Amino acid sequence: MIKPVWNKDYKEPAGWNDVTIGSNHGVGILPTVNSGFRTLTPKIENTNCIKCMLCWVFCPEGCIDKTGEALKIDLDYCKGCGICAEECPKKCIEMVKE
Ligand code: SF4
Ligand code: SF4
Repeated sequence: MIKPVWNKDYKEPAGWNDVTIGSNHGVGILPTVNSGFRTLTPKIENTNCIKCMLCWVFCPEGCIDKTGEALKIDLDYCKGCGICAEECPKKCIEMVKE
């Protein structure tokens, strides 16, 4: 899996179609492994997943791995923001207390 990288040459996109995937901003990204501040953890129930990839597009950390059969979240870089769970149209991501 490709780890999130801070794109220091980031330019404001003209429209949402130009927004690149994953971390682009200096604020809000985890350049190193999560040091334990997360209180909620996303859990994916892959049986209901329709592979729309909205969670992957919206995850600000770029830490959802779509290379395998089922989606996996790299919890080393997940900050527990819950955006993936909020965006999932099938409600297959649940935020659970760590
Ligand atoms: S909670 Fe979801 S959207 Fe937020 S960083 Fe973790 S995987 Fe990405
Ligand atoms: S948003 Fe939900 S349904 Fe879509 S790929 Fe992610 S987990 Fe699957």
